[in-house]
Amino acid sequence: MDVNEILEKLNNATKKDVEQITKAFEFAKKAHKDQKRYSGESYFIHPVAAAKMLAEIQMDTPTIVATLLHDVCEDGHATPEQIKKEFGEEVAFLVEGVTKLGTVKYQGVERHVENLRKMFLSMAEDIRVIIIKLADRTHNMQTLKYVPEHKRKRIALETLDIYVPLADRLGMGKFKGILEDLAFKYTYPEEYEWTKKQITGASYKKEEYLTKVKEKISEELEKNKINITNIDSRVKNLYSVYKKLIRKDRDISRIYDTIAVRIITKNIEDCYAVLGAIHRLWKPVPGKIKDYIALPKLNGYQSIHTTVFCIDGKITEFQIRTETMHEEAENGIVSHWAYAMSGKQKEGGKVKKELSWVSELRNWQKEHAGTQEFLDSLKIDVFKNRIFVFTPKGDVIDLPESATPIDFAYSIHSGVGDSCSGAKVNDKMVSLDYKLQNGEICEILTSKNKKPSRGWLQLANTSYAKNRIRSYLKKELGVEVPRAPKNLQKIKNFEFKIVASNRIGMLKDLLSIFQSEKINIIKLNTDSRNKKRPVIVIIFPTKSNTIADQVAAKIRKVKGVKSVEKMLLKN
Ligand code: MN
Repeated sequence: MDVNEILEKLNNATKKDVEQITKAFEFAKKAHKDQKRYSGESYFIHPVAAAKMLAEIQMDTPTIVATLLHDVCEDGHATPEQIKKEFGEEVAFLVEGVTKLGTVKYQGVERHVENLRKMFLSMAEDIRVIIIKLADRTHNMQTLKYVPEHKRKRIALETLDIYVPLADRLGMGKFKGILEDLAFKYTYPEEYEWTKKQITGASYKKEEYLTKVKEKISEELEKNKINITNIDSRVKNLYSVYKKLIRKDRDISRIYDTIAVRIITKNIEDCYAVLGAIHRLWKPVPGKIKDYIALPKLNGYQSIHTTVFCIDGKITEFQIRTETMHEEAENGIVSHWAYAMSGKQKEGGKVKKELSWVSELRNWQKEHAGTQEFLDSLKIDVFKNRIFVFTPKGDVIDLPESATPIDFAYSIHSGVGDSCSGAKVNDKMVSLDYKLQNGEICEILTSKNKKPSRGWLQLANTSYAKNRIRSYLKKELGVEVPRAPKNLQKIKNFEFKIVASNRIGMLKDLLSIFQSEKINIIKLNTDSRNKKRPVIVIIFPTKSNTIADQVAAKIRKVKGVKSVEKMLLKN
């Protein structure tokens, strides 16, 4: 194996990138020296295969380096300290993130899947950690046949329930398709074989047919002087065909889009011109024209789909999209990312549509002006006020920060809450006012004689637990505990004094932080007596000190900000 297998996939690697990647390659090779995969091959093929996948989609160097190193602590002979020393904080952070996620194991309890996904995101802290995990998982799935049989199904199910939806939400269609089909094969082997047979059945002489379709459409486009970049056809991924087949009473003749012809154009205008040309040749099937360019899908997917009565009346789907849309459909968030890094001109001068889920996830506002801002936006902080705690069986319970075992007990079942006599966290006894931490395993001890008491109201933090305790006290003991008066959160005014460098875009960056927190600024002054280091004074209202602190923390991260001083103004 040679590091060039990775390097040759990178389009714009600098000398420094090459050095870093080569160093990591040698480091990992040594760390995994005497280890083997289940297949009997050297363990080292695994990180290299994953790194190749991410080089292919032009991930940044820290990500590729971290991918090469992702198993050296867990499975190899290296320590986190060594990684930090040799490769720096950023790489060490990414490797640590991947290791942490490795401890999250899916036990196959349907109702907790969504929590597990959230937990995954909250633990990852950086989208790149998830992307590394996707490449890691893809190679593991590609080599799953070597893994002992009793483990295969669990891994495949976990892939289907956790990794596939994450890839989908990140808009990474290519990973999604690959992972989905690999997992499909192991989770539902019979259905997999059946679907495969349906598609490759004798009725589909598709190669020959598709060649004819492509010739015909190319001719028409040429006649009308419509330029395209590429035309190709593909068989839909098996799992999505299977899901459709189930909806259509397992009747393959009712599924039109097992094959699709894909046409890639230079710009949006040409997409519509191509659509026109197709409809001039063949009649569209009513109700099957979908304009995802005008109305993108939730994960940002853009394309025009149309299904027509094609040659010999055969029903065939066409997908039309620009190069950029294609890149995005395949690699999702990564293409945004690679895009910002390369600083290319935005398509048609317009700001590209963001992936709505991602933007929601990260409160990611507007366009990303600089690389640093973009990198910051990769930090996941939506779930920062939530923690995810395991039951001993591996279920995941979603709780607010500062939740206690009492909250945990009530969110399992009110009966468990009412008879809670104690708790163990990671196998050690804890008191009932213990503050649970993300990723801990909590076990509730119950006793028939234990009953809720008034004191529990102080221990509980979730309103659900409090209400249950209150209603128990009322019903069983006839004690009415008055609710504490609703904490009327008064709006307070805060003043920030921000010392910052005098750079272009500074104000815009600061304002976008307030905007993303949905805070309206009351007053903004710039004191420029010190030309190089102006002081920006911002006065704004907000409900809590915590929010003000969060805003301050964000401002401190803005490039060129030297200090932020916070003051609560007396009304
Ligand atoms: Mn791995």
